[in-house]
Amino acid sequence: MTHVSFSDLRTAAYCPRKLYYARQDDDRGGPPAVDAVRDLAFRYDDLLESADSALAAEPIAVDPATYRERLETARDRLESRGRWATLCEPEVRDLLATGRHCRGVVHKVLADPLEPSLLSPGRPPARGVWEPHSVHAVAAAKALAWERETAVETAIVEYPAYGVIRRIDLTTRRKASYRRALRTVRSLDGPPPRVRNRSKCESCAYAETCGVRTRTLRSLLGFG
Ligand code: SF4
Repeated sequence: MTHVSFSDLRTAAYCPRKLYYARQDDDRGGPPAVDAVRDLAFRYDDLLESADSALAAEPIAVDPATYRERLETARDRLESRGRWATLCEPEVRDLLATGRHCRGVVHKVLADPLEPSLLSPGRPPARGVWEPHSVHAVAAAKALAWERETAVETAIVEYPAYGVIRRIDLTTRRKASYRRALRTVRSLDGPPPRVRNRSKCESCAYAETCGVRTRTLRSLLGFG
């Protein structure tokens, strides 16, 4: 059976209908280039030592003081678990991992214990990680576990532009969401229903095609 890509899983977890449109467009490459933001995640120690003026010139999304404070908190937490050094200098960077059902790039592979870390260019939620990132993290962990024949119990999602690093357990609920997304990708045929959570539509590139009127447009028209 054909392997499902991590990006398709992520999009299906966000909105199955969006995946349908992306396939029609043959546009499943994910968001535009975000290399500069992802590169931050390999320079945390340097960033912690940087002056405000130097930090302000980086592609960060919060003010330098907030950024440094968040990174310091993350560093202290991960150092206490012996994971900071390996997060900054992972065993492998940008590994194309192929599991039993899916494949894609794992941005960082941490060793002892084996653990994937994913780099999101966007904003983190107030707590935890976004659902598409959770699904992506489970997929990456499963692919690594399959390749190395080793159990993987946790994953990390980094939001480098915000100085936020979140570690998650691969719980039964997260694995169930992953399996649901996998089924969605494999069974996609016609256009699925629109998502109920219309706040997702505001940043969706297919809002017009989809026929969804976003809050922004309603506001512009004076109906918001
Ligand atoms: S506009 Fe909303 S419902 Fe339509 S594809 Fe995008 S996220 Fe899904």
